[in-house]
Amino acid sequence: FIEMKDIVKVYGKLTILHKVNMSLEKGEVISIIGPSGAGKSTLLRCLNHLETIQGGSILVDGDYLAEEKNGEVIYANEVKSKEILGKMGMVFQSFNLFPHMTVLDNIMAAPIYVKGMKKEEVLPIAENLLDKVGLLNKKNMYPGSLSGGQKQRVAIARALAMNPEIMLFDEPTSALDPELTGEVLKTIQQLADENMTMVIVTHEMAFAKSVSDRILFMVDGKVEEEGTSEQVFEHPKSERTKAFLKSIL
Ligand code: ATP
Ligand code: MG
Repeated sequence: FIEMKDIVKVYGKLTILHKVNMSLEKGEVISIIGPSGAGKSTLLRCLNHLETIQGGSILVDGDYLAEEKNGEVIYANEVKSKEILGKMGMVFQSFNLFPHMTVLDNIMAAPIYVKGMKKEEVLPIAENLLDKVGLLNKKNMYPGSLSGGQKQRVAIARALAMNPEIMLFDEPTSALDPELTGEVLKTIQQLADENMTMVIVTHEMAFAKSVSDRILFMVDGKVEEEGTSEQVFEHPKSERTKAFLKSIL
């Protein structure tokens, strides 16, 4: 469903991603783990074109977002790109909600302004999503009066309002106090249970282990080890994986 092949990302003279491969099937959950600076966020940002790649190909649901031909990366045209990127929703570490809009308006903004949907049409969808993340009673509040965990659940509902087929999470809980982490992870687990296709960058190892079908362990811009949750966490092959897991658990 998603195939990233031989991804190369260069900043100036620095190569950040060295021919990284990542693929997942529809309905699969993959977690990317690894030390700081490994290139986890960069790989995720390449997938939804927040970064451009200098080598490799990105295939989403049968369409090339980027394709390497004769050593050159060609991106899909604007119309096609929009269609492909519209299939992906992303949630960041910092919630990025619009501070001057209520919770409900935050969720309705993109469907109305990007998709051109009618307010009456979006309202029940937005309320339904808020209910799903357990925050319907906060719909008229402003983000400033919510806890970090609540803000992040609104951010997830906002991404879901665009009806994505794939959700990307970049350390969705790392800005949260430990006691607020659980409620956000529960929301993500719920999406996994509904067979949402997800790529999750996380430092929450216990969560990665339980929610993921597969794990990608990255170091220094390369995939050091990849396998099922069970393989990577219970029977890591590489010494670096072993050392990393030991240091973090
Ligand atoms: P963390 O766990 O700390 O979030 P990460 O695995 O997400 O780390 P990235 O943010 O992808 O790591 O960064 C990978 C490397 O790319 C780092 O060495 C970083 O310094 C470098 N890098 C990231 N963004 C840029 C940029 N805009 N310009 C130059 N170098 C960058
Ligand atoms: Mg990162």
